[in-house]
Amino acid sequence: MKKLATAKDIITLPNPTLRQLSINVKKIDNQVLEIIEKMEQAALDWEETREHEVSVALAAVQIGILKNIVIIRSNFDDKSVKEFKVLINPKIVKKEGKIITDFEGCLSVKDIYGQTPRYNKVLVKAKNEKGQDIKIKAKGFLARVLQHEIDHSNGTVFVDHVKNHQHFYKLDKNGELQNLNYETEVKPTGILRD
Ligand code: ZN
Repeated sequence: MKKLATAKDIITLPNPTLRQLSINVKKIDNQVLEIIEKMEQAALDWEETREHEVSVALAAVQIGILKNIVIIRSNFDDKSVKEFKVLINPKIVKKEGKIITDFEGCLSVKDIYGQTPRYNKVLVKAKNEKGQDIKIKAKGFLARVLQHEIDHSNGTVFVDHVKNHQHFYKLDKNGELQNLNYETEVKPTGILRD
């Protein structure tokens, strides 16, 4: 396979592009298909060097392209499954159920995790890479991932939802999450909005 992108193409906060709005894709042409391929390659390359983490999803803005395209891993638990579901112009049409707070990380937020509140159920409409309309009724972790990715298209990153300063964490060498000190370890990174 031709190498179009690597983990180095993934931008991270405080890069201001992550705060911009993505625009909807009007036509699924070769350029769009190439962006999708780049996103998949960058996501897969990212997890290569990370023993305890999986690239579950990516939005185009994360490789610096302000187009409303999201890829979601077909299997969240098995890293050997390298396929992604493609969502073009995804939109949340319904959020429901309880709001659940759980750990979230992002390829664009280096080494920081946060306890992030999300709706437990969502209904998402999008197009697939063939231009067909699709509808996804999701709950639990998939619902969380969809909310996280669609946020990216709006310039929002999960850290914006972490309201409690005690709710930031980092992964240690053993893959365990350890609490971060907000004043000395989170604030100086510049990941938070003013
Ligand atoms: Zn993210």
